[in-house]
Amino acid sequence: MRIGIDLGGTKIEGIAIDDAGREQVRRRVPTPQGDYRGTVDAVAALVRAIESETGSGATVGVGIPGALSRVSGRVKNANSTCLIGKPLQGDLEAALQRPVRLANDANCFALSEAVDGAGKGERVVFGVILGTGVGGGIVVGGRVIEGANAIAGEWGHNPLPLPAGDDLPLRPCYCGRAGCIETYLCGPALEREGGAASEAAIARYEERLARALAGVINLLDPDVIVLGGGVSNVDRLYANVPRLWAAHVFSDHVSTRLAKHVHGDSSGVRGAAWLWGGAPAG
Ligand SMILES: [Zn+2]
Repeated sequence: MRIGIDLGGTKIEGIAIDDAGREQVRRRVPTPQGDYRGTVDAVAALVRAIESETGSGATVGVGIPGALSRVSGRVKNANSTCLIGKPLQGDLEAALQRPVRLANDANCFALSEAVDGAGKGERVVFGVILGTGVGGGIVVGGRVIEGANAIAGEWGHNPLPLPAGDDLPLRPCYCGRAGCIETYLCGPALEREGGAASEAAIARYEERLARALAGVINLLDPDVIVLGGGVSNVDRLYANVPRLWAAHVFSDHVSTRLAKHVHGDSSGVRGAAWLWGGAPAG
């Protein structure tokens, strides 16, 4: 049995899956707000509750809204700020008396979709979350690429390529820079442009997403790019964006697919569970 935990800003969700990826148990609890110790205890209690329900011990993977610093081993880049600077892995391992694997939530999304979702069977998968923020994760051959700085795939804080016209002036970002991809492609940015009903707003969004993903294709050349998060439910993106990105990709032909997630909101917990060992059996 594998337990996956998605540690979010408002809720902590946990599932247990078997070797074939079948969900056995799912539970969720509210995230103790601004309370680090309470958050660690809540995760540990959730794991124990799931184990008592399945009646067996399990490996534990946890998706977090941030990353573990390669320098300090502590949490960085987290929008749940009470986690920043904390030795979360060690504290969870002490609370649960076993090794625990932690990964960025966008990496968990990418892993879930690569193992048995929209990227199943593909070698190089880039997973993108277009939600409150914009995150990305890279999976190659069924394994998450974390990178030398634990930021592989963190494409949302690259500058939007070729800003012009409506892109200007560059939008300020919470990270301290301006013109970050996230400021143009997060869900709230689309809502600010006039809501889902505005044709012009969606067309502008598609064109920006195409420019931004063309940079990913030039660098990583993935087999498939899988979209998740609220904006990924706009179905027209999947036909229009690949038509638009061709102009910006350095290739005579672009065979990279743009695909909608299969597991949706469950990809966070499923990917966290898959941090312990690859593809489902059978
Ligand atoms: Zn930024």
